[in-house]
Amino acid sequence: MPFGTEIAFGKKDSPIQSRQFEGMTLVGVMDRIDKYEPQSEVGVDASQVGHFVRLIDYKSGYAKFAFADVFLGKKLQLVAYLGVLMDNGFLPAGSFYFPVKDGWDDDEFSHRLVGIFRDDLDTVTHLDKGLSKHATDGQGKESEVFGVATHTTKTKGFCIAKRNDYALEDEQIQGLKEYSFAMIEQAIVQMKKGNIVKNPLAQGNKAVCGMCPYWGVCTSSGEPIQERVVMGTLGLGAFVDTQDK
Ligand code: SF4
Repeated sequence: MPFGTEIAFGKKDSPIQSRQFEGMTLVGVMDRIDKYEPQSEVGVDASQVGHFVRLIDYKSGYAKFAFADVFLGKKLQLVAYLGVLMDNGFLPAGSFYFPVKDGWDDDEFSHRLVGIFRDDLDTVTHLDKGLSKHATDGQGKESEVFGVATHTTKTKGFCIAKRNDYALEDEQIQGLKEYSFAMIEQAIVQMKKGNIVKNPLAQGNKAVCGMCPYWGVCTSSGEPIQERVVMGTLGLGAFVDTQDK
């Protein structure tokens, strides 16, 4: 059920409150929020715990979510905005980019939502209603909405058959939220200290300054620019306990 679109948070009349970081309020606009009430039979009482929400950020062109980008502080939006909703009493069902591109790829999966979601059958069948109708037919079903599949087995009944790496336990979502907030706070601390040094971040062999339109301005003083280089891959384990996953 839609909760709203273009929802501002952190502003004076906003329906969503935000938090302060070092005396500064985090403000922003959430493109779209959907909500649902959890079913009582999964052990969650909606009247006591509120609604689950799915946050969607429309993204033109290529949309990709990677734990490395959160860890390095390059892309905090999906996680931090979901954290703001959690601070307002909502429960996290998922937070996704919706890739909006020119043209149409004629396959089932190129236009799926990209992001994190709660690793729970009740949640995933609310995030894609098309999955639940296969609860009794014994067929496996890959979601056309996001990265998950369901099927029915003799031993487990209707269950999640396949999820991607971004299916998270509640504690892991909480860990990501706290990490993103800590990154925001740290950035503000540094800015308040006057730290505006050129400090670009390159991942692997992808140099950034050579491709940057501001290169001429940045090098006009004649000072060389040192890029920080991150090699290898960073997964959820870099900053969230994954032992139980
Ligand atoms: S050229 Fe300047 S603005 Fe561009 S990435 Fe390098 S340091 Fe940043």
